[in-house]
Amino acid sequence: MLSIILPSYNEEDNILVATERIGSLMRDNNIDYELIFVNDGSKDKTWEKILEASEIDENVMGVNFSRNFGKESAIFAGLKHANGDACVLIDCDLQHPPETIIDMYNLWKTGEVDVIEGRKSSRGKESLLYKAFCKVFYSSLKKSSGIDMKAASDFKLLDRKVVDALNDMPERLTFFRAMSGWVGFRTENVYFDVKERNAGESKWSVKSLIKYAINSITSFTSAPLHAVTICGLIMLLVSLIMAVNTLYNKLSGNSLEGFTTVILLQLFTSSIVMISIGVIGYYISKIYEEIKARPRYIVSEVKKKKCEEER
Ligand code: UDP
Ligand code: MG
Repeated sequence: MLSIILPSYNEEDNILVATERIGSLMRDNNIDYELIFVNDGSKDKTWEKILEASEIDENVMGVNFSRNFGKESAIFAGLKHANGDACVLIDCDLQHPPETIIDMYNLWKTGEVDVIEGRKSSRGKESLLYKAFCKVFYSSLKKSSGIDMKAASDFKLLDRKVVDALNDMPERLTFFRAMSGWVGFRTENVYFDVKERNAGESKWSVKSLIKYAINSITSFTSAPLHAVTICGLIMLLVSLIMAVNTLYNKLSGNSLEGFTTVILLQLFTSSIVMISIGVIGYYISKIYEEIKARPRYIVSEVKKKKCEEER
């Protein structure tokens, strides 16, 4: 069986459309499936729509969060509740073309791959600023952690082994896109074009994107901490040169001349020190978050599949 996980946040107009489109696609291709909608604390009628969908299609189940925990948490909740031999993660706004699931499924059926990554062959409609931001983000991530994420998306098929491996990862601050690569296994790519949103609007604001970017980088690499060390080393080199220069000036009797240098040096070092402390502080706050060991999400209600309820 194939479990299809759809994180949903304020998607009231998309739930029924997605249920119908994906459901009929699965039936046409004779694939045994379940649809798992994870309602990420929506403020609209998403949960009611999910309940409605489960009346229409007996393979629909719903997981309701007590509040908005973010897409990452919704993905992991879906993986936890999935019963299938493989899981597909797909946006419920139908920006990821459901037909691609069939390609993924057929590839998985060959038994030769465990992870099938949906990669964007085109990024769809995005603003210029967003594009620029993505470019900086992905290139810095590639440099710092060696993972090329530019075309990566959350649209993936994972074999049961991989799902179990992910479910066993205890960390709270997750970055799903990279983690599914980190666990290893045999991976293959499938390409798709990003479609227009079916209804509603994107949930990302500039602020939430920046937060997501910083979170992703720091949860996946400690490169910024090493950058601090490197800055320190560069500063040491600079100050050695300055020391020689200052000593030379002193010995040759022109010591007052260097006053500007002192000020510049003061400003420079203190700013580097402050940035460094900030970076370290950020990681400490992440350690603090992890050590609190709070759950990734809180489920307030689970709507079982109709075909299960009758049993
Ligand atoms: N989503 C979620 N929780 C959130 C934000 C988004 O579960 O806090 C879901 C959303 O319902 C959608 C998917 O994540 O199914 C992608 O969100 P969106 O379409 O807003 O992002 P975009 O496609 O613009 O990158
Ligand atoms: Mg979308």
